[in-house]
Amino acid sequence: MLRFDLISIFPEYLAPLKLSLLGKAIEKGLISINIHDLRDQTKDVHHSVDDTPYGGGAGMVMSPAPWGDAIDQISSDSDQIDLIILTPAGKKFDQKMASYFAHRRQLLFACGRYEGIDARVGQYYAGKSNFKVHEISIGDYVLGGGEVAAMVIIEATARLLPGVLGNPESLKEESHSIIGSSEDLLVEYPNFTKPAVWRGLEVPEVLLSGNHGAIAKWRKEQAERRTDQLGKE
Ligand code: SAM
Repeated sequence: MLRFDLISIFPEYLAPLKLSLLGKAIEKGLISINIHDLRDQTKDVHHSVDDTPYGGGAGMVMSPAPWGDAIDQISSDSDQIDLIILTPAGKKFDQKMASYFAHRRQLLFACGRYEGIDARVGQYYAGKSNFKVHEISIGDYVLGGGEVAAMVIIEATARLLPGVLGNPESLKEESHSIIGSSEDLLVEYPNFTKPAVWRGLEVPEVLLSGNHGAIAKWRKEQAERRTDQLGKE
């Protein structure tokens, strides 16, 4: 069982995590998803979670205290916890990271807002022996908050767990898992289903041939061509 915890000031934003594939995985007891409201940790009447930046500049920064209190509460009896701080300044998320996370025990996502979270939060937990801290970005663009980024990482990670996908064979040949001739990772070949002719467009003949060797060869070539093409765009 992989446990996911998320801290956010917009817990309702994370409702889709309980739907579809992930909802079924929760029902089967393969994962648990626990959503925590950062504002529950505030002590003032306004439930404030941010303040002006030291050094000046635009926007507000999320204060370390409510984050520390929320993380301490969630991790009080955890002996192995990965703290994932979502930030556009982090390491770029990819399939390799998803499979690393799929082998961990508890993933705690800190979903920032405003100008982000006071940098000492990551620094503090990096110094704790039961924590591994990761600063992660889902791409080179800036979102309004970390919630969508956390959902991306959770979906990519959870589907790799045994029992989550209806057909585990699907994981074998998909984008970023297919190994090419030069050992690099490829994107998937194009897929087709019935009918064999749609709006005048025909399914490639080799796929109708029943010749498994020829099909595998064609798919590998297509995957290499598509991957190559991506590098040129
Ligand atoms: N001031 C920050 C910067 O320039 O790096 C951007 C803050 S952004 C408006 C607010 C929050 O959205 C961040 O703290 C982070 O949690 C989340 N976020 C924005 N873009 C992201 C991305 N590409 N990947 C992961 N999280 C992101």
